[in-house]
Amino acid sequence: MIIIMALIFILGIVFGSFFNVCIYRIPREESITYPASHCTNCGRVLKPYELVPILSYIFQGGKCRGCKEKISPIYPFVELLTGIVYLIIFLRFGFSVESLKYIFLCSILIISSMIDINTMEVYFKVSMAGFVGGIIFSVLDILKGSDLKVKVLSILIPLLIMGLVYIVSKKYDGFGLGDLEVYLFSALYLSPKLILLSIFLSIIYGGVLAIILMLLGKRKMHIPFVPFIAFGVFTAIIFGNQIIQLYLNLIL
Ligand SMILES: [Zn+2]
Repeated sequence: MIIIMALIFILGIVFGSFFNVCIYRIPREESITYPASHCTNCGRVLKPYELVPILSYIFQGGKCRGCKEKISPIYPFVELLTGIVYLIIFLRFGFSVESLKYIFLCSILIISSMIDINTMEVYFKVSMAGFVGGIIFSVLDILKGSDLKVKVLSILIPLLIMGLVYIVSKKYDGFGLGDLEVYLFSALYLSPKLILLSIFLSIIYGGVLAIILMLLGKRKMHIPFVPFIAFGVFTAIIFGNQIIQLYLNLIL
C-alpha cells in the first residue's frame, strides 16, 4: 500500500510539472508541447536532469544553471500541491472511476487557479478541458445508471445562485463570468448536494479572506476567486458527505 501511495504521489508531482508548463504558456498563447522546456530568463533549453520535479529545484538551489536567475518557488509548490491532492483523493476513493474523475477535475482547477492568481483571468481553453472531461464522466455516470435529471439539476444550481447574485448586486462584483464558467464545469462532476456545498464553502472561504484583508486595511485589493472555488470543490469532494451529515444532525 505504501508503494502504491508513493507512486500516486509521484504521478501527481509529474503531472504538476506539466501543469506548470500549462500555467505559464496558456496565458501567453504559446503551445504547451513545443518548444521544449527552457529557462524563461535566458532561454536555455533544460537538460533531462533539470526536468526532475522538485528535486532539480532543490539541487540547483532554486536557480537556473545557466544564468543563475532565481526560479520561482511557485513551480515546486504546484508540483507538491498536485502530488498531495492526488494522494488525498486516492486515499478517499481508492482505485475507482470516482478517483479518476476527481483527479481530473482537481487538475483542471489547479491550472485555472494558478492562472487566475497570475493574470486575474479565467482562460476558456482551460475551462473547455473541464467541460469536455465533465461530459465524458457524466456519460459514464449515466451509463452506470445515474439519472440525467440529477445531472441537469447539478448544472442549474450554479446558474441559479450566480443569477441571484447578479440580480441582487446588479453586477458581478467580484464574481466574473469566468468564475461562473468554473462552477459550471465543476457541476458536471458533482452531485447537486456537493456542488451546492462547494459554492457555499467557496463563498465562505472568499468572505473570510476578504474580512482579513479589510482588517489589514487592504480592502481595495483585488482577489482572484478561482482558488476559492477550487478549495470549496476539493473540501466538498473529500468531506462533503460528513459536512452535510453534521449539518443535518444540527438542524434535526
Ligand atoms: Zn536561465
